[in-house]
Amino acid sequence: MTSNIFQDIMDRVDLKDLVRFNGLEVDRGGFVCCPFHNERHPSFKVYEDHYHCFGCGEHGDHVDLVQKLYGLSNIEAAKLINKDFGLGLETGEIAKPINPRPRKNDEFKLWLGESVHTLIEYKKLLAYWERIYDPRSPIDNVNDRYLESIHNKAYVEHCVDTLLFGSEQEKRKFYETDREYPKRIKKRLDELDVVSRKAPKRAV
Ligand SMILES: [Zn+2]
Repeated sequence: MTSNIFQDIMDRVDLKDLVRFNGLEVDRGGFVCCPFHNERHPSFKVYEDHYHCFGCGEHGDHVDLVQKLYGLSNIEAAKLINKDFGLGLETGEIAKPINPRPRKNDEFKLWLGESVHTLIEYKKLLAYWERIYDPRSPIDNVNDRYLESIHNKAYVEHCVDTLLFGSEQEKRKFYETDREYPKRIKKRLDELDVVSRKAPKRAV
């Protein structure tokens, strides 16, 4: 018997946590600046089992969110959530994807999804480091991780903005000119995992 991974995800992951995990800030009223259209005042409301944007009408559940953010199929999105939240759900035997990923553009789309994910993770890590390694006194030796954060954060933020909110053209341009950058960041994150398992991967 195969359990329904989609239902399991909805049951086990708080949608607000998922939204936060993906780099969006939820305010006290449960509103977020919509990741699907450009806005300055939050009109994207996060409910328990779904979200709805009063600005652009985007609407969906946990898997829809991740699927749309990273251009994944619903199965891929479910797998990603499963992995990110360490749910340990069976993903091998689930039903066939409803929308199999198109063959063309595969490489670009795959790169885009992975890159956004990597860069958001790194961005959160840098923000975390900047907070915890903030030098208390100018005499102290400044921590390398603090420096890494200061050096990289502006560019990482720019990359995340471009890859999440940029036009198709801008994303492709990034892909053509700097596609190796997210891969280097991925390598850096992997190294950190190996060097220090205690290194916080994300500031949740
Ligand atoms: Zn919207």
